[in-house]
Amino acid sequence: MPRFDGREWNEIRKISIELDIVPNAAGSAIFKFGETWALAIVDGPKPGKMSAGFEEGLLRVRYDMLPFSVPERKKPGQGRREIELSEIIQRALKPAIFLDELHGSIIDVYVQILNADAGTRTAGINAASLALALAGIPMKDLVIAVAVGKVGERIVIDLNKEEEDYDSEKLKNDPEKSKFIEYYGEGKATDIPVAILPSERKFTIIQLDGEIERENLKKALNLALEKSIEIREIMKKAILNKYESLKLPRI
Ligand code: UDP
Repeated sequence: MPRFDGREWNEIRKISIELDIVPNAAGSAIFKFGETWALAIVDGPKPGKMSAGFEEGLLRVRYDMLPFSVPERKKPGQGRREIELSEIIQRALKPAIFLDELHGSIIDVYVQILNADAGTRTAGINAASLALALAGIPMKDLVIAVAVGKVGERIVIDLNKEEEDYDSEKLKNDPEKSKFIEYYGEGKATDIPVAILPSERKFTIIQLDGEIERENLKKALNLALEKSIEIREIMKKAILNKYESLKLPRI
């Protein structure tokens, strides 16, 4: 018996991509992992008023979720979580960008979550990566993000909200869902969102919420590396369909 939504342990939710949806922006993209939808918009590079003499360009990220994107309406505007996620997404993207070629310019990336079912930071990073490429920002590679983790005793990829909230003790009292304990096993969930530069097999961020054994962590990270190449192919194809001549490093 497979996962709550019918997937296998190493199966990512359906990916959908839309490119260049905002005419006035330098680059824009929607990236969807199933019901998690992220819109990213890039403004820039543009001259920075205060940073004209700086050697490096400046990358700024603003992440937010729309109030209706979650079942329990979210208060509009950024709170602590959204400010922290903006910083995480900035750190995930920065190592890919040749900021030293962008003397004193500013790149603003706006990540807006349209619909959320867990994994909004990873969908947001992928959307931002696409929007940056479309804006012509010089990059080493696309940054690819995905969550891996342990649900009960099982390693899985791209956790949805139901999996992130997994608790076998609570499910025991649920006549419809208790059968899933047979698949996942006992325990709670550990979510590990990561971002990867696939061409260098480098992680730009690794976050971990929960507990996991060393061996399982290795297995989960290897799964993320392997799948990042698959996700990159899908993203690359979407871009190439738009711009036949765009060159990305071979991996
Ligand atoms: N979420 C929610 N309301 C909030 C914040 C989050 O319902 O105010 C849900 C949403 O589905 C989100 C998930 O909780 O995707 C997990 O949020 P988390 O902070 O772990 O980040 P994410 O997995 O989205 O990167």
